[in-house]
Amino acid sequence: MKLLVGHDGSCPNSPGGVRRKSDGEWVIFPMWRKNKGKSKDVPGNRFNVRVRNEESRPRHLTLRADWGAAATSTMHFRDVGYVKHESEADWTLVIPELTGHVCTYSVTVQPGETEIGLWPAYNTEDCRRFVSSLAESPGVRTRVAGRSRKGREIFLVEINGPGAPAKREQLVIQARDHAYETAGSYCAEGMARFLLSEDPAARYFLQRFRVALLPMTNPDGVYDGMSRLSAPCGANLSCPVEQDDESWRTLKRVLDRLRPAVYINLHNWTYKWHDGLLGDNETLTEHIRERMPSQGRFLKRWRVRSQADLLKASGLASVTPEQRTWKNYLAEKFHTEGVAFEFPWFGRNTADMRETGRQALLATLAGYLQMRDD
Ligand SMILES: [Zn+2]
Repeated sequence: MKLLVGHDGSCPNSPGGVRRKSDGEWVIFPMWRKNKGKSKDVPGNRFNVRVRNEESRPRHLTLRADWGAAATSTMHFRDVGYVKHESEADWTLVIPELTGHVCTYSVTVQPGETEIGLWPAYNTEDCRRFVSSLAESPGVRTRVAGRSRKGREIFLVEINGPGAPAKREQLVIQARDHAYETAGSYCAEGMARFLLSEDPAARYFLQRFRVALLPMTNPDGVYDGMSRLSAPCGANLSCPVEQDDESWRTLKRVLDRLRPAVYINLHNWTYKWHDGLLGDNETLTEHIRERMPSQGRFLKRWRVRSQADLLKASGLASVTPEQRTWKNYLAEKFHTEGVAFEFPWFGRNTADMRETGRQALLATLAGYLQMRDD
């Protein structure tokens, strides 16, 4: 068997973060970074490797993910994993054995390639494939809004129903500011597929809104196996404070040009038991919350938070520039009604995540229109 790293989205992202113990047994160091320098990226939310079984029979894989001694007290965020053989359509949750700061995965791998990671993967190639799959749909315009520091595309997908777009309000959906938060990509896919479906509700919303989707704002961080940032000392794409980064500049340019009326930012924190709904307009968050089906079947309850709640929880009197997010910036500059969702993986597969995205979009647009129409 071979353990493969260095591909799109692999973490560790080069062989320096891997030790072979015996045939079929490896240790990986997800916190390992080539040229890490003084890293501001907080690693520890991600690993993803591939195993190639070149024989014609199933083999047993032992994979130990060593997160380093400093991680011991936070291992309850990392005591899970997902696997997918190349022939399978979806990922399966696997539970490792946890000893201190090491998770040991024991998996039977079929001939061919199997991916194993902390979460289901969704990399730059998946995003490119998704965007090109939309390109031929009526009313859709896809383009490259800009390039990352390493030259990767930052896609913008615009969806318009028939009729005069000027009368509609602008909705912006943004995902993958944080590299490891793959759930946001599946939610964004669920949202776009719904809007392009024959569902009459989709047709209605496309009469009221013109839609812009930024499906992956941080392609460098995604490709290079970062946790949150675009590089070890790179940009935090969810923060509107000026940063010397091409992806950040592209994002700001697009948001300033579009001046959204409604804004949705998709994230996934690593809490197992809470979905997050973050927004400063209590009426809107209540309208959304009331329209979401119970997430109890995914073992979740809601955590609804305003910026003021977050400050109270962190014991601070005022927002530091680094704590501001795009929804704060857009609210001040364009009176945008913005929310962020956090939909963690545990208890969900990728089909569940697409459906959760669809429901979150419906709840947000209906909630917003109730405020406007009442
Ligand atoms: Zn995030």
